[in-house]
Amino acid sequence: MGARINLEPYPALGNLVNEIGPELGGNAQQKTYYEDDKKLKAVLNESNISLFLNYHANRVEMDGNKIVKVIAQNLETGEKQAFSAPLFADCTGDGTIGYLAGAEYMSGRESREKFNEPTAPEKADNLTMGISVQWFSETTEHTSTFPNIKWGLPWSEEKSFAITRGDWDWETGMGKDMINETEFIRDYGLLVVYSNWSFLKNHHSEKEKFENESLKWVAYVGGKRESRRLVGDYILTENDLTGRNLMPDGTAPTSWTIDLHYPDAENSKQFDGEAFRSIAEHIKIYPYPIPFRCLYSKDIDNLLMAGRDISVSHVALGTVRLMRTGGMMGEVIGMAASISNERKAIPREIYQNHFSALEKLMLEGIGNPNLTNNQDYNLGATLMETGSIK
Ligand SMILES: Cc1cc2nc3c(=O)[nH]c(=O)nc-3n(C[C@H](O)[C@H](O)[C@H](O)COP(=O)(O)OP(=O)(O)OC[C@H]3O[C@@H](n4cnc5c(N)ncnc54)[C@H](O)[C@@H]3O)c2cc1C
Repeated sequence: MGARINLEPYPALGNLVNEIGPELGGNAQQKTYYEDDKKLKAVLNESNISLFLNYHANRVEMDGNKIVKVIAQNLETGEKQAFSAPLFADCTGDGTIGYLAGAEYMSGRESREKFNEPTAPEKADNLTMGISVQWFSETTEHTSTFPNIKWGLPWSEEKSFAITRGDWDWETGMGKDMINETEFIRDYGLLVVYSNWSFLKNHHSEKEKFENESLKWVAYVGGKRESRRLVGDYILTENDLTGRNLMPDGTAPTSWTIDLHYPDAENSKQFDGEAFRSIAEHIKIYPYPIPFRCLYSKDIDNLLMAGRDISVSHVALGTVRLMRTGGMMGEVIGMAASISNERKAIPREIYQNHFSALEKLMLEGIGNPNLTNNQDYNLGATLMETGSIK
């Protein structure tokens, strides 16, 4: 996982992320790398959490600007379940709860003029970062074969990638509709993995190098980076981050570079505009505390957000989309929910009237503060020195 936790001005933020997060990092690795059991155990041990796995929220009921119920359907049994609550959090990545409730959202890239961002394109467009279908092979003692598939894409030595693992840059769907074309994008991701692997095993000039490689895992869930961003009372932009335009309602610091992905031009040319390889461009920033106003919807009175669907421009998403940063946002909105419950205040009122209470909780933190933070920081994209950011 990239991005830092335990940073000024709220060094206790991230303790919970650290407690449940994996020790190791890296994409497309064996499942033991991700320690999902540890996360599940932590949730099951928490008496205040009721866990509903495999339920997909697909409807909301409203009372004016408030959500009163979220209705979700079990993906295996089809059973429907209604959830009533005074407050909801949209952590769906796709901003689905906000969308169903009628909240304003943004998608694609904003024009340069819209937020005066140097990195934005002159004209708005629908380019987003893509979906990755990751994969890896394992080296075995015996040789193995792979079918010479007839349903794959036309492949050649020039088009092939003689590799044993599809990392983050095995990425596709940029420019497609990340909500309505998700399955097409995922299926294309699968198609190129199998087309390439079949070519390596059956036709490549160095195919003997792959004789003892066996395709071990291909993700059937595409990893998404970007879709809807719900609009809050504040929209974080590139200039806030690079110009250190600090806000009075700063919360969890975002610390990764502004890391934006684009289709690899050569790969795009070879595959008629359907690139499945990407490049990343990085802009370094100092850690920047994300304003609380980016973590609730401007339109829906009782809707908080955390993760990649918060209120940021496309460019600013490049840094806040990191897992540990999103995890800290989760800590913050959990704290905000407790204040909301105690003081009968909607999120906007926490910003207006109760922000000092949230500050106090952010300083105290939750989770075990005594664990060492032994996760490395994905040093590929190094951070500018932090100094004091208060
Ligand atoms: C290949 C790849 C490599 C990456 N590498 C890194 C890295 O090294 N370090 C890093 O920090 N970040 C990395 N990122 C970015 C990071 O993983 C994402 O930005 C981050 O996971 C976004 O988290 P999220 O919880 O906001 O959204 P998501 O990860 O999209 O999670 C949303 C969750 O909500 C669930 N959900 C969605 N809709 C509904 C619904 N209607 N009802 C119920 N549940 C729903 C989904 O099933 C999912 O579990 C990578 C991303 C990709 C794709």
